[in-house]
Parts: sequence; structure tokens; C-alpha cells
Amino acid sequence: MTAILTVSGLHAGYGEVPVLRDISFSVARGEICAIVGANGAGKTTLLSAIAGLIAPSAGRVHFQDQDITSAPAHTLPERGLAMVPEGGRLFAFMTVTDNLQLGAFTRAARAEAKQRMEEVLELFPILAERRLQHAGKLSGGERQMCAIGRALMSGPRLLMLDEPSIGLSPLMTEKVLDTVATLARTRKLSVIIVEQRVTEVLEIADIAHILAHGEIARTDSAENLRNDPQIQQTYMGL
Ligand code: ATP
Repeated sequence: MTAILTVSGLHAGYGEVPVLRDISFSVARGEICAIVGANGAGKTTLLSAIAGLIAPSAGRVHFQDQDITSAPAHTLPERGLAMVPEGGRLFAFMTVTDNLQLGAFTRAARAEAKQRMEEVLELFPILAERRLQHAGKLSGGERQMCAIGRALMSGPRLLMLDEPSIGLSPLMTEKVLDTVATLARTRKLSVIIVEQRVTEVLEIADIAHILAHGEIARTDSAENLRNDPQIQQTYMGL
């Protein structure tokens, strides 16, 4: 399968503090790639380095055959890469519709905004009901849906999600993850998903990388990891 994203030999950190060491992996079209690991393992740092929010100290990131290493974060949606940060980071005093509209800030996305808005509201009907409500009044699950919807407004080929289940009930987590799986299956959207809810994310992922102390400790199919007693014990609470 051809890769849509390839990360090779990536090192990154904060100032003099190294966090990620020699990270290499790729993501295929329509693939859901989970990144799991303990608190502080470097999962958010990895997404930030891919998204251009922090500059890698070594290594390269290629996306759709272009070298995007250290490309400014705001240029990535235009290239087809969108990120949903932890907590969604919506504008609390703006309506749901206005928050969604912000995702279509590039010229190309503006031209498609009307149709994409309809698609997002169809995907998350609850957002259609709440469209004129301030985002700050949404429930945790609705907020996460709105944040994913906003990312979809830019028409991404690769969606990166940082802990979408945080603060959500098990039922809402399942709903959000099911929608992510549907997007990958029906639209061939590629997904990188960082998740603490390992049992749930391995249900929808194709492949997973286990990050430990800034390095990839293991890569395997989600199915193998789901059935591995050691993984069950360490990460799935079984
Ligand atoms: P969590 O699940 O707790 O969010 P994580 O796997 O996403 O963990 P990161 O947030 O990437 O881990 O953090 C990796 C390491 O980098 C940690 O030791 C953290 O303290 C450190 N770190 C994170 N953000 C910063 C920052 N802005 N400045 C300095 N150090 C940071």
C-alpha cells in the first residue's frame, strides 16, 4: 500500500529537552493508525512535530510526496492534513456553525464550505440541532464532534486526533470512534489517533505503535495487540 505519510528518523523535544528519539513509521491511505503509551511517553509531542507545531531536531516528515518537515502548522490544512488537539479547543463564545466555518479557512476549502458543512451536519446530526448554540454550552461528546467536524471542513486526507475520548462517557467514546472508523472506510481518510482508551481504539485501528520513553517500542496489527496477554495486562486493564 502506498503511504500517505512517512515519518523517518524523527527526533524532537522542547528546547534542550529531547523527547522523541528516532521515530519512523508510515500511514497508508484509509488506514487508522493508533499511537498508544503511558502518560508522558511523547504521543502529543509526536503529533505536534508532524503538524509543524514544534520543529524536529532531526528526521523528515513526508506527506503526499512532499517534504513537510517543519512546514508552518497553518499551511498543513491546505495540503490535506488536519489535527484535532486534545480537548478540541473550540471557541466557547462562538456558535457551533461559526466554529465549524473556521475550519474552512483556506481558499480551496471556502469554495467547498457549503457542501462540507452539510456533510458534517449529516455525520453529526446533534450538531445540526445545536448549530446556533455557543460551543461552550456543548457536552464533552458534542464538543469533540464539533472539533472533528471543524477539521473535516478543511477537506483533509489525513486526520490526526489527540485523545478524542478525554472527558467522554464510554458510550460517547464509542460513538466518536465509530464515526472515525466510518470516515476511514467510506472516504478513505487516513487517521492517526492518540488514545489512552486502548481497548476501544484497538477495536477500530488497523495498526498501532506503542510509544515508550519517546521511542516506538512495538508496532503490530491492532488485532495482534488486542489478543496479546501482555498488552492486555499493561494497557487494557484486563
Ligand atoms: P499524556 O498522555 O500525559 O498527554 P504524552 O504521551 O502525550 O502524555 P507528551 O505530552 O508528548 O506525552 O509529553 C512528553 C514529555 O514531554 C513529557 O515528559 C512532558 O513533560 C514533556 N513536555 C510536554 N510538553 C512540553 C512543553 N511544552 N515543554 C517542555 N516539556 C514538555
